[in-house]
Amino acid sequence: VSSVRTFHEDVRSALGGRHVVTDQDLTASHCIDWTRRWHGSTPAVLRPGSTDEVAEVVSAARRHHVALVPQGGNTGLVGGATPLAGEVVVDLRRLDRLDPVDAAARQVTVGAGVPLATVHAHVAPASLAFAVDLGAREQATVGGMVATNAGGIHVVRNGPMRVQLVGVEAVLGTGQVLVANMAGLEKDNTGYDLPALLCGSEGTLGIITAARLRLVARPEMVAAALVGFDSVDDAVWAASTLRGEPAVVAIELMTADGLAVVADFLQQSVPLLPVPAAVLLVEAAGRGDVTAALGDAVAALPGALDAAVSDDAAGRERLWRWREGHHEAAAALGVVHKADVTLPTGALARFVMAAPALVERVAPGSTTLVYGHAGDGNVHVNVVGPKPDDDSVVDAVLAAVLERGGSVSAEHGIGVAKRAWLVRQRGEVAVTAMRGIKSALDPDNICNPGVLLP
Ligand SMILES: Cc1cc2nc3c(=O)[nH]c(=O)nc-3n(C[C@H](O)[C@H](O)[C@H](O)COP(=O)(O)OP(=O)(O)OC[C@H]3O[C@@H](n4cnc5c(N)ncnc54)[C@H](O)[C@@H]3O)c2cc1C
Repeated sequence: VSSVRTFHEDVRSALGGRHVVTDQDLTASHCIDWTRRWHGSTPAVLRPGSTDEVAEVVSAARRHHVALVPQGGNTGLVGGATPLAGEVVVDLRRLDRLDPVDAAARQVTVGAGVPLATVHAHVAPASLAFAVDLGAREQATVGGMVATNAGGIHVVRNGPMRVQLVGVEAVLGTGQVLVANMAGLEKDNTGYDLPALLCGSEGTLGIITAARLRLVARPEMVAAALVGFDSVDDAVWAASTLRGEPAVVAIELMTADGLAVVADFLQQSVPLLPVPAAVLLVEAAGRGDVTAALGDAVAALPGALDAAVSDDAAGRERLWRWREGHHEAAAALGVVHKADVTLPTGALARFVMAAPALVERVAPGSTTLVYGHAGDGNVHVNVVGPKPDDDSVVDAVLAAVLERGGSVSAEHGIGVAKRAWLVRQRGEVAVTAMRGIKSALDPDNICNPGVLLP
């Protein structure tokens, strides 16, 4: 206790008392995650406003042996930003630097605390776009997205966060400030790729303070379509075909069962009636008439039954609501158990069809929604029914994924939720290598000690 008190004194003098928050009414929202599955407690939430202040916090934590949990928008879905063992929370949202867009390099440097939607808005006037997009865009921060190597709806065309990350600035667990390729060189073949290493490290190696991001051309036209199919098999086959269409930037899969839950939540009818067994949401973007290109691509798909197409912003948003509503519709039913998995392309359709029956065997009477980024082989199995601390359903789903050669985490990361699965997924040699990296960069184990490594 005395050591924590001394730590508090140190951080108060570094950050100013206003940014060391100890009032439990104010810290409470930092101690529970978006899914409400993970609850913790914290003696303080620290709000550093600069890289130097983050470095002071980490150095004080080393001196006083205090564990830190970095937190951005707190939208992560695997418990990685929740202080489950009474850690001190470091809220990074005051790191809100927004440098001018470097149009010549097609890059921008932003602070770790900047929300994704702000990045989108910031680069748009330069006719550029940031390639990553996801449902939690208003809250999720660049730091959190780098730390989790976030994926989202455009991975099928542009890849995940790691592909967009040119450079990174971070305070390592040693307290040292690492500046890795923040000049934005497109080619720099001088040893280990440290931005890539920090991307996906889930706050276990240090605290990301800024990122240099790659940008893409802002599309002049965007069109979206909901396309119905008689079977999941047909929809998954169509998703593979659509990946070959250069204008297609998103391919999302939904099933009739999930759409029924969303329809109840939205109090609306599904735009395709009768509701097909499987539906793809396809988005095309680019120059010229992408609506026609999308229409032609959809019309050529074997098994496509019916389609609702829109090329204006409000209409597209209405179509996307059916896909993005899955998260909220499930959350409105209760605590959601989430398995975010990837399957090899050839195993995806069977897995999607088998998942509800698998869940029913383990937790009879549950509600199961299976949906996701079909273009990447990534589906989310969301289950409502089992008690919050009952892992049996997720364990059964993850075991089935491993048997089929998939991954137990496609894009949300390991967090605390999937730590027990890391060795089975990656093998002893890889996990030992990860431990070696962790002890080199965070020798006192103060950075998110309860996360990622078993
Ligand atoms: C509605 C909804 C839709 C979503 N859709 C997607 C999706 O399509 N694809 C996808 O990949 N994810 C998705 N997510 C999950 C989530 O938005 C991402 O994981 C996002 O990257 C988390 O960002 P955050 O700022 O909220 O991070 P947090 O939740 O605050 O933290 C996540 C992890 O990163 C660490 N961390 C946070 N900031 C830093 C930092 N500056 N330095 C070091 N470590 C840090 C935390 O300790 C934690 O381990 C969704 C979530 C919701 C609620």
